[in-house]
Amino acid sequence: MSSLDAIDEAAMQRLRRIGGDELISELVTIFLRNTPVRIQSAREAAHSGERQQVMIAAHSLKSSCANLGARRMQQLAAEIETLALNGSTTALPDLIEKLDQSFQCVRTSLEKRASHPPHRPCIAVVEDNADNRLLVRALLQPMYDIAEYENGTEALAGISQNRPDLVLLDISLPGMDGYAVLSAIRANPALSDLPVIALTAHAMTGDRDRIVASGFSDYISKPIDDEQILLDSIARLLRT
Ligand code: MN
Repeated sequence: MSSLDAIDEAAMQRLRRIGGDELISELVTIFLRNTPVRIQSAREAAHSGERQQVMIAAHSLKSSCANLGARRMQQLAAEIETLALNGSTTALPDLIEKLDQSFQCVRTSLEKRASHPPHRPCIAVVEDNADNRLLVRALLQPMYDIAEYENGTEALAGISQNRPDLVLLDISLPGMDGYAVLSAIRANPALSDLPVIALTAHAMTGDRDRIVASGFSDYISKPIDDEQILLDSIARLLRT
Protein backbone atom coordinates (compact mmCIF):
# COMPACT_ATOMS: atom_id res chain seq x y z
CA MET A 1 0.00 0.00 0.00
CA SER A 2 1.36 3.38 -1.03
CA SER A 3 1.44 6.13 1.58
CA LEU A 4 -0.63 8.11 -0.92
CA ASP A 5 -3.48 5.75 -0.15
CA ALA A 6 -3.26 6.26 3.63
CA ILE A 7 -6.22 7.69 5.52
CA ASP A 8 -5.72 11.28 6.64
CA GLU A 9 -5.61 11.04 10.44
CA ALA A 10 -6.62 14.70 10.81
CA ALA A 11 -9.96 13.82 9.19
CA MET A 12 -10.35 10.88 11.60
CA GLN A 13 -9.56 13.10 14.59
CA ARG A 14 -12.19 15.56 13.44
CA LEU A 15 -14.84 12.83 13.14
CA ARG A 16 -13.88 11.52 16.57
CA ARG A 17 -14.39 15.00 18.02
CA ILE A 18 -17.79 15.29 16.36
CA GLY A 19 -19.24 11.88 17.11
CA GLY A 20 -16.63 9.60 18.60
CA ASP A 21 -15.72 6.13 17.38
CA GLU A 22 -19.38 5.26 16.89
CA LEU A 23 -19.68 7.88 14.15
CA ILE A 24 -16.49 6.66 12.47
CA SER A 25 -17.72 3.09 12.59
CA GLU A 26 -21.07 4.01 11.02
CA LEU A 27 -19.52 6.20 8.31
CA VAL A 28 -17.02 3.47 7.42
CA THR A 29 -19.80 0.88 7.18
CA ILE A 30 -21.77 3.09 4.80
CA PHE A 31 -18.64 3.90 2.79
CA LEU A 32 -17.68 0.25 2.38
CA ARG A 33 -21.20 -0.57 1.24
CA ASN A 34 -21.68 2.32 -1.20
CA THR A 35 -18.26 2.74 -2.74
CA PRO A 36 -18.10 -0.48 -4.80
CA VAL A 37 -21.59 0.28 -6.14
CA ARG A 38 -20.59 3.82 -7.13
CA ILE A 39 -17.34 2.71 -8.73
CA GLN A 40 -19.17 0.07 -10.73
CA SER A 41 -21.77 2.62 -11.77
CA ALA A 42 -19.03 5.03 -12.93
CA ARG A 43 -17.31 2.21 -14.80
CA GLU A 44 -20.45 1.17 -16.68
CA ALA A 45 -21.46 4.77 -17.42
CA ALA A 46 -17.98 5.55 -18.77
CA HIS A 47 -18.16 2.45 -20.93
CA SER A 48 -21.45 3.53 -22.49
CA GLY A 49 -20.46 7.20 -22.70
CA GLU A 50 -23.01 8.51 -20.19
CA ARG A 51 -21.09 11.50 -18.85
CA GLN A 52 -23.89 12.62 -16.57
CA GLN A 53 -23.96 9.27 -14.76
CA VAL A 54 -20.17 9.28 -14.39
CA MET A 55 -20.37 12.76 -12.88
CA ILE A 56 -23.06 11.79 -10.40
CA ALA A 57 -21.11 8.75 -9.19
CA ALA A 58 -17.82 10.66 -9.02
CA HIS A 59 -19.39 13.54 -7.15
CA SER A 60 -20.82 11.26 -4.45
CA LEU A 61 -17.50 9.42 -4.16
CA LYS A 62 -15.63 12.69 -3.81
CA SER A 63 -17.65 13.90 -0.83
CA SER A 64 -17.69 10.52 0.94
CA CYS A 65 -13.92 10.21 0.54
CA ALA A 66 -13.45 13.75 1.85
CA ASN A 67 -15.47 12.92 4.98
CA LEU A 68 -13.28 9.94 5.82
CA GLY A 69 -9.98 11.47 4.77
CA ALA A 70 -9.36 9.09 1.83
CA ARG A 71 -7.40 11.84 0.09
CA ARG A 72 -6.09 9.95 -2.93
CA MET A 73 -9.54 8.60 -3.75
CA GLN A 74 -11.00 12.06 -3.22
CA GLN A 75 -8.50 13.53 -5.66
CA LEU A 76 -9.14 10.85 -8.29
CA ALA A 77 -12.91 11.23 -7.93
CA ALA A 78 -12.53 14.99 -8.41
CA GLU A 79 -10.48 14.43 -11.58
CA ILE A 80 -13.07 11.99 -12.90
CA GLU A 81 -15.88 14.44 -12.17
CA THR A 82 -14.08 17.28 -13.97
CA LEU A 83 -13.23 15.12 -16.98
CA ALA A 84 -16.78 13.79 -17.23
CA LEU A 85 -18.05 17.36 -17.11
CA ASN A 86 -15.91 18.97 -19.76
CA GLY A 87 -12.93 16.93 -20.81
CA SER A 88 -12.11 13.99 -22.94
CA THR A 89 -13.79 10.78 -21.82
CA THR A 90 -11.00 8.56 -23.14
CA ALA A 91 -9.02 8.87 -19.89
CA LEU A 92 -12.01 7.97 -17.71
CA PRO A 93 -11.75 4.15 -17.64
CA ASP A 94 -8.12 4.36 -16.58
CA LEU A 95 -8.83 6.85 -13.79
CA ILE A 96 -11.77 4.79 -12.56
CA GLU A 97 -9.51 1.71 -12.29
CA LYS A 98 -6.98 3.80 -10.33
CA LEU A 99 -9.77 4.89 -8.02
CA ASP A 100 -10.78 1.27 -7.52
CA GLN A 101 -7.17 0.30 -6.73
CA SER A 102 -6.90 3.06 -4.17
CA PHE A 103 -10.20 1.87 -2.66
CA GLN A 104 -8.81 -1.66 -2.29
CA CYS A 105 -5.85 -0.15 -0.40
CA VAL A 106 -7.89 1.91 2.05
CA ARG A 107 -10.54 -0.78 2.49
CA THR A 108 -8.48 -2.96 4.83
CA SER A 109 -7.47 -0.08 7.04
CA LEU A 110 -11.08 1.16 7.20
CA GLU A 111 -12.50 -2.30 7.95
CA LYS A 112 -10.35 -2.46 11.07
CA ARG A 113 -11.70 0.85 12.29
CA ALA A 114 -15.30 -0.27 11.74
CA SER A 115 -15.05 -3.63 13.45
CA HIS A 116 -12.57 -2.84 16.23
CA PRO A 117 -13.09 0.70 17.37
CA PRO A 118 -10.11 1.82 19.46
CA HIS A 119 -10.27 1.66 23.24
CA ARG A 120 -12.47 4.42 24.67
CA PRO A 121 -10.66 5.99 27.60
CA CYS A 122 -12.68 6.40 30.81
CA ILE A 123 -12.82 9.77 32.54
CA ALA A 124 -13.97 10.15 36.15
CA VAL A 125 -15.79 13.43 36.71
CA VAL A 126 -15.94 14.55 40.35
CA GLU A 127 -18.27 17.52 40.65
CA ASP A 128 -21.03 18.31 43.13
CA ASN A 129 -22.95 20.62 40.81
CA ALA A 130 -25.41 18.61 38.71
CA ASP A 131 -25.58 21.03 35.81
CA ASN A 132 -21.79 21.19 35.56
CA ARG A 133 -21.74 17.40 35.46
CA LEU A 134 -24.35 17.42 32.71
CA LEU A 135 -22.36 19.88 30.60
CA VAL A 136 -19.10 18.02 31.04
CA ARG A 137 -20.81 14.74 30.20
CA ALA A 138 -22.35 16.19 27.03
CA LEU A 139 -18.95 17.50 26.03
CA LEU A 140 -16.96 14.33 26.66
CA GLN A 141 -19.40 11.52 25.91
CA PRO A 142 -18.77 11.39 22.15
CA MET A 143 -15.17 10.41 22.84
CA TYR A 144 -14.93 9.00 26.33
CA ASP A 145 -16.70 6.78 28.81
CA ILE A 146 -17.71 8.83 31.83
CA ALA A 147 -17.95 7.85 35.50
CA GLU A 148 -19.60 10.57 37.59
CA TYR A 149 -19.14 11.23 41.31
CA GLU A 150 -20.83 13.88 43.46
CA ASN A 151 -18.30 13.98 46.25
CA GLY A 152 -14.76 13.01 47.13
CA THR A 153 -15.58 9.99 49.30
CA GLU A 154 -17.68 8.35 46.57
CA ALA A 155 -15.07 9.26 43.99
CA LEU A 156 -12.20 7.62 45.91
CA ALA A 157 -14.23 4.45 46.43
CA GLY A 158 -15.27 4.32 42.76
CA ILE A 159 -11.88 5.20 41.35
CA SER A 160 -10.21 2.49 43.44
CA GLN A 161 -12.70 -0.09 42.14
CA ASN A 162 -12.62 1.03 38.50
CA ARG A 163 -9.43 2.88 37.69
CA PRO A 164 -10.24 5.54 35.10
CA ASP A 165 -7.69 6.87 32.58
CA LEU A 166 -8.05 10.44 33.84
CA VAL A 167 -9.86 12.37 36.59
CA LEU A 168 -11.60 15.75 36.28
CA LEU A 169 -11.70 16.97 39.85
CA ASP A 170 -13.68 19.92 41.18
CA ILE A 171 -11.84 21.82 43.93
CA SER A 172 -14.89 22.99 45.89
CA LEU A 173 -16.64 19.85 47.03
CA PRO A 174 -18.73 19.19 50.14
CA GLY A 175 -16.74 17.31 52.77
CA MET A 176 -13.38 16.40 51.26
CA ASP A 177 -12.27 19.12 48.89
CA GLY A 178 -10.38 18.56 45.67
CA TYR A 179 -6.99 18.95 47.35
CA ALA A 180 -7.81 16.20 49.85
CA VAL A 181 -9.07 13.90 47.09
CA LEU A 182 -5.91 14.51 45.08
CA SER A 183 -3.71 13.75 48.12
CA ALA A 184 -5.51 10.44 48.61
CA ILE A 185 -5.06 9.58 44.92
CA ARG A 186 -1.35 10.45 44.98
CA ALA A 187 -0.88 8.44 48.20
CA ASN A 188 -2.41 5.28 46.69
CA PRO A 189 0.26 3.32 44.75
CA ALA A 190 -2.40 1.91 42.39
CA LEU A 191 -3.62 5.40 41.50
CA SER A 192 -0.67 7.69 42.13
CA ASP A 193 0.21 8.26 38.46
CA LEU A 194 -3.35 9.08 37.34
CA PRO A 195 -3.63 12.33 35.38
CA VAL A 196 -5.87 14.65 37.42
CA ILE A 197 -7.19 17.95 36.05
CA ALA A 198 -8.47 20.49 38.59
CA LEU A 199 -11.76 22.21 37.78
CA THR A 200 -11.83 25.56 39.53
CA ALA A 201 -14.30 28.43 39.59
CA HIS A 202 -13.06 31.63 37.92
CA ALA A 203 -13.16 33.41 41.26
CA MET A 204 -10.54 31.00 42.55
CA THR A 205 -8.01 31.40 39.77
CA GLY A 206 -5.78 33.10 42.34
CA ASP A 207 -5.26 29.57 43.64
CA ARG A 208 -3.45 28.61 40.47
CA ASP A 209 -0.04 28.37 42.13
CA ARG A 210 -1.39 26.22 44.92
CA ILE A 211 -3.15 23.95 42.39
CA VAL A 212 0.00 23.45 40.33
CA ALA A 213 2.14 22.93 43.45
CA SER A 214 -0.31 20.35 44.81
CA GLY A 215 0.42 17.93 41.99
CA PHE A 216 -2.52 18.41 39.68
CA SER A 217 -1.64 17.58 36.08
CA ASP A 218 -3.46 20.66 34.78
CA TYR A 219 -6.31 22.95 35.74
CA ILE A 220 -9.32 24.33 33.88
CA SER A 221 -11.38 27.25 35.11
CA LYS A 222 -15.16 27.10 35.30
CA PRO A 223 -17.48 27.97 33.73
CA ILE A 224 -15.90 26.28 30.75
CA ASP A 225 -15.97 29.07 28.14
CA ASP A 226 -13.76 27.36 25.62
CA GLU A 227 -14.35 23.63 25.59
CA GLN A 228 -11.43 23.11 23.23
CA ILE A 229 -9.03 23.98 26.07
CA LEU A 230 -10.47 21.17 28.17
CA LEU A 231 -10.53 18.71 25.25
CA ASP A 232 -6.92 19.54 24.32
CA SER A 233 -5.75 19.16 27.92
CA ILE A 234 -7.44 15.74 28.20
CA ALA A 235 -6.07 14.56 24.84
CA ARG A 236 -2.55 15.68 25.79
CA LEU A 237 -2.61 13.98 29.20
CA LEU A 238 -4.03 10.75 27.79
CA ARG A 239 -1.17 10.55 25.29
CA THR A 240 1.52 10.78 27.96
MN1 MN B 1 -18.16 22.33 43.39
